[in-house]
Amino acid sequence: MEINCTEKDLLILNKVATAAEVLGVETYLIGGFVRDKILGRSTKDADIVCAGDGIELARTAAKLFDPAPHMNYFKNFGTAHIKVNLSGNEVFDLEFVGARKESYNFNSRKPAVEPGTLEDDQKRRDFTINALAISLNKTDHGKLIDPFDGLKDLENKIIRTPLDPLQTFSDDPLRMMRAIRFATQLGFTIEERTLQAIKDDAHRINIISQERITDELNKIVASSKPSVGFDLLYKTGLLQIIFPQMVELVGAEYKEGHGHKDNFYHTLQVLDNLSQASDDLWLRWSAVLHDIAKPATKKFEDGHGWTFHGHEVVGGRMVPKIFGKLKLPQNEKMRFVRKMVEMHLRPISLTKENITDSAIRRLLFDAGEDFESLMMLCEADITSKNKQKVKRYLENFQFVRQRCKEVEENDHVRNWQPPIDGEKIMELFGLPPSKPVGILKNALKDAILDGDIPNSYAAAYDFLLSKAGEMGLKPINS
Ligand code: ATP
Ligand code: MG
Repeated sequence: MEINCTEKDLLILNKVATAAEVLGVETYLIGGFVRDKILGRSTKDADIVCAGDGIELARTAAKLFDPAPHMNYFKNFGTAHIKVNLSGNEVFDLEFVGARKESYNFNSRKPAVEPGTLEDDQKRRDFTINALAISLNKTDHGKLIDPFDGLKDLENKIIRTPLDPLQTFSDDPLRMMRAIRFATQLGFTIEERTLQAIKDDAHRINIISQERITDELNKIVASSKPSVGFDLLYKTGLLQIIFPQMVELVGAEYKEGHGHKDNFYHTLQVLDNLSQASDDLWLRWSAVLHDIAKPATKKFEDGHGWTFHGHEVVGGRMVPKIFGKLKLPQNEKMRFVRKMVEMHLRPISLTKENITDSAIRRLLFDAGEDFESLMMLCEADITSKNKQKVKRYLENFQFVRQRCKEVEENDHVRNWQPPIDGEKIMELFGLPPSKPVGILKNALKDAILDGDIPNSYAAAYDFLLSKAGEMGLKPINS
């Protein structure tokens, strides 16, 4: 099989082949590297399988590099990993494993493992396109070993399990997520029986750890057209189990001639739009979650139609809960997503005529360094089918951007901080962290942004004294 290896690939693979020859052990390239090379995708790691001791092979191969890379290994799994440093800070990961045969117990994720042949090992792979192997052995170097017609499936863009899909998915239900993830990343179709098996076995995803599920979900979110994956997750019943809040968005209700859009497909459209503009995983998650509280806030107002008042605030509050459940990071990434969800209607409110500078300053201050991300989210949120409308809305946001640019050039609000901060307010009035501190802080910020008082310490101090007085608070040393 001719695959398009770079010189660097060949340099590395030749060392593995030499190690295999030294040890006299049959060795093959397998999995993602073979698949991606045939597809012409880029690669930066390779999986190696040998009919023997994978750790021994890794150790022998590592010694052939100068300097010899460090080897990590897991005796229990018979796997080893070396990271080869290439010129220009590039690295190439090699994963080694001894060919094995696996048998599973229905209630456990942990298979009984015994040494096996290459073919046994190919059978335990998840999909035909991931089971392709290429020989690194002297006798038949470069030969493609393809017992399940993976090459044909690659050509026809098909995701299919090598064995009975129900068996394959039952053995490791994460493979259902992987099927959908590969279909999304590669733009492939899941073969009918395989897809049906996911529908039948979806409930089995419950035995998989949240971390592994979320890894796959993140890969779907990070792909070029994430809607494909979410739509498949929904249609197979997996989404209902792993992320039920999103399924709540499905459907449109009609009453007295008023309808609302299907917020699930709207969300997917926003996510796809955004994905054309940005690779930022967390901004993409903001798109996934921007309308998540629409079901919770939905009301029908007589004579008016459907409303979702406050969905951005309620949605913001849902972000930490959803991040917790999905085991996404509980850090500044989460706070960023929450901020985007909470603010996603703000620029729209500034598209009207006669917007004051102080309203623009407030947006700039509140968005801070995330201003550009917020604007991208808002622009992605335009999903009308009416081309005229889309054009008009985009022009409106262009206008907001322009106004913001002018105001920022004059007032530098984006990275501005009020002359007296929360810490100082607590100190001045002898307050613990509490609601009054927030009230004072916001009042001061608004007073300066509105131009009511100058942006100086003295003016801020006087303002706080009087505002605190109204609230029955006195400075500590008066
Ligand atoms: P990528 O690295 O782009 O995610 P990949 O195909 O290399 O794609 P890995 O998760 O790195 O995927 O796994 C390497 C190979 O190991 C796969 O190609 C597949 O042959 C096998 N594999 C990985 N996970 C599973 C699994 N859950 N069940 C069966 N085989 C698996
Ligand atoms: Mg890989």
